Amino acid sequence: MVGSAHSGGNFDTMTKQGRNTPCWCGSGKKFKVCHLNREQQVLENPWHAIEATRKAFKRKLCTAHGGLFGDCDGQIVKAHSISKGANLSAIAKNGHVIQYQTNIKEMNKNGGKLVATKVGIGDASTFNGFCAAHDRTLFSCIENEAFTGRPDQCLAIAYRTLSREAYGKDSAAQMRSILRDADKGLHPLQQRLMQDWLAVMETHNAAAQKELRHTHSLLSLALSTGNTSALRSMVIQFRSELPFMLAGAWSPFTDLKGVHLQYGGLDELLEQIFISTFARPGTGYICVSWVDKPGAPGKVIADQIRSLPTDVQANACMQLGVKHIENAFFSPNWFEALTNPQRAQLDRLAANGMDAMGSPPASPIRLDLIFELPSTLQIFDS
Ligand SMILES: [Zn+2]
Ligand SMILES: [Zn+2]
Repeated sequence: MVGSAHSGGNFDTMTKQGRNTPCWCGSGKKFKVCHLNREQQVLENPWHAIEATRKAFKRKLCTAHGGLFGDCDGQIVKAHSISKGANLSAIAKNGHVIQYQTNIKEMNKNGGKLVATKVGIGDASTFNGFCAAHDRTLFSCIENEAFTGRPDQCLAIAYRTLSREAYGKDSAAQMRSILRDADKGLHPLQQRLMQDWLAVMETHNAAAQKELRHTHSLLSLALSTGNTSALRSMVIQFRSELPFMLAGAWSPFTDLKGVHLQYGGLDELLEQIFISTFARPGTGYICVSWVDKPGAPGKVIADQIRSLPTDVQANACMQLGVKHIENAFFSPNWFEALTNPQRAQLDRLAANGMDAMGSPPASPIRLDLIFELPSTLQIFDS
């Protein structure tokens, strides 16, 4: 046994790999120029990897480009997926809000846990996914008019939300190649974990891209033809202002009670649910939407929220949002006043999407845990 690994772990296959065979990590390079002795290589400044990732998410392209919405015009703008003036500033303190973010520097220590981080509202929820003309014309009904829950407003926010998600997935497709070398200097077992994690992320991402593109073209058609009934929404208005703002879409596998809604087989295109919030002086709105189809998973969840007591509905929406949407922001005053159990629950929910490394199990929504949130004034369909 010469040079055998004896510090635990089952990475024998890595250490015994032939120098000229394709590397175990799947890069396509020979082992000798890839992961051979990687644990002895100098760890790159982790900020380089983070910078590279940020750059990938700063790609400029208009997701409304071509065909249905007419030609692009003007520069690609830093578009807010949650309106800054009306919504983010309503919960900000000194121009800042709180968001759970990935911290790659901390990844080795805590398995990629998300960290509650202060962000300026100028940068919060932005993406470079629209040209100036499309950003101005497509979202005028939510940027220049107060939100009242009209169908055209629900459709516009769903379209913008999905554009951001699709844009994010397209950017994330580059993540694996960007981060492939970010395990230099790490213990072989950590290299394996990191490369496995990147591979799983890539597979998930490719499947999600396909589904989002399908729904995106459906909503593009609805928005460009004014066919607002392609999307159905449940709008909840609250008795006072909400301390959080979020906008996101995801493909739910289970309902609020953990019952399966859809499985995502090889050829099954998953349906999405959309949730977004709006601030108005003295009140707040949550819009829950789904593409109109029989048995739509989004409608099942909306009906369940509707059947909850009126003082729990905001709580259910918030916990669902934190669990599934990283584009979610909190009022610093509210967040800093959370009790330990409340904070622990939000931490768990936020970490839910990061379980690709196999660590934390899916985090249930806990409606028995009371948060300081407004009760419902009214619910209507849109
Ligand atoms: Zn390799
Ligand atoms: Zn454009």
